[in-house]
Amino acid sequence: MGMERLPRLSKTVAASYNEMGRQRPATAFPFEVKTMLTVAKFGGSSLASAERFLRVREIVRADASRRVVVVSAAGKRHAADHKITDLLYLCHAHLQYGVPCWELWRMIAGRYTAIRDGCGLRFPIERELEAIYASLSPATPRDFLASRGEYLAARLMAELLEFTFVDAADWLRFDSAGNVLREASYAALRSLADGRKIVTPGFYGLLPSGAVHTFPRGGSDVTGSLAAAALHVDVCENWTDVPGILAADPSVVSRPQSVPYLSYAELQALSAVGMQVLHESAVEPVRRRRIPLQIRSSLEPELPGTCIGPEPAEKNEKNEAAVFAGRRSITMLRAERQGLVVKEYINNMPELLAAAARTLVRAGLSVVHLSCGLGQLTALVEPSGTDALHAAGEALAGALGAEETTLRENLSLIAALCRTPETAPRLAAAIQSAGVPIHHIAERAPCLLMAVNDSQYETALRAAYRAR
Ligand code: ASP
Repeated sequence: MGMERLPRLSKTVAASYNEMGRQRPATAFPFEVKTMLTVAKFGGSSLASAERFLRVREIVRADASRRVVVVSAAGKRHAADHKITDLLYLCHAHLQYGVPCWELWRMIAGRYTAIRDGCGLRFPIERELEAIYASLSPATPRDFLASRGEYLAARLMAELLEFTFVDAADWLRFDSAGNVLREASYAALRSLADGRKIVTPGFYGLLPSGAVHTFPRGGSDVTGSLAAAALHVDVCENWTDVPGILAADPSVVSRPQSVPYLSYAELQALSAVGMQVLHESAVEPVRRRRIPLQIRSSLEPELPGTCIGPEPAEKNEKNEAAVFAGRRSITMLRAERQGLVVKEYINNMPELLAAAARTLVRAGLSVVHLSCGLGQLTALVEPSGTDALHAAGEALAGALGAEETTLRENLSLIAALCRTPETAPRLAAAIQSAGVPIHHIAERAPCLLMAVNDSQYETALRAAYRAR
């Protein structure tokens, strides 16, 4: 089971071209037939129950190119449910405080046993569960325990799909600072996956010490992208519970459209301001190799989802509408100096910005955006203690030689991805006509950033969405 050997991955076949009986030299008209290869990464919501596991099998079987599957741990079956990873972290906290975690462990074991039984599998999961439970102590490393959610999900999925299980511990390597060792990891996966259909767990790998190390939360996305880059696949799919990237937050805008296409740069710009569809480190490995990322819903697999790729979006009506991301609770610091002449401003701008950034970071503030206008420095930062904000305000004024500084709290930031030159002024005008003042507006290509009162965030976003 699961060890079926296929032709080597991405096999290319050179064939000569014979036209109207005339034999052409093989080198003059070679064409290549390439076996397509897809990495399909399934998130926790696609793996929450036996029924969802079976749906994953249908999706994988529907396309023969899906030969590398990456899984998260089982997620929530419904809003009040628990993610397995959350339960594992909670178990670890209990162990730390010497509080028994048996009840929690039974919940975890029960979820995976029910998936195994509901899928009619024979995998002896009790043995695995008992071995993990028997090894638990206050010294159990947090990352190791958290990683078991992905490990167990992958064991079950491998049997269900009849694919080979490849442990992430056998290929994903970190250095001692927790950075992925790309070339070593890629080479290890290439040799383990070669010619096989595989399932591998997301979220974790090994440190040089041999200890398990996990990515931050949501990190199975990163594993999916690393696997895609390692194997030079044609497509990296990311299956989740939303039909791709939505043009605005559905909890604010009712039934927002889904976005057919984004470039990597556009996605990264929106993620920087709070769009949370994909782990932000998941873009870079595929971007480097120009592999398209496809975000799709396992609940509605018939929908195309969103494709994220290297090229700018094609110019057509469907693609022109703006896409929004937002971030609540922002504080604005502004220093102003009158009478600065343009030339002086332009000559000093790079140093000014660098000095301001250093000042803010030194004051312990987390900077979301920093911009410089004629005689004006504006910083959008995450909220912080009043003392730190005042100290930063003064230092900012010092950097510019400013007479005045303003501090404005309780703001929200709206980022609008604008694909035509007319979009930005239209959106700003719509927000203002809805009676919402814009306290700061800045271009951070390809997005327009607008800071509005937190209390008016919903009104502003709905007005902008209507005008997109
Ligand atoms: N299971 C981990 C989490 O819940 C990693 C992942 O799902 O990507 O964060």
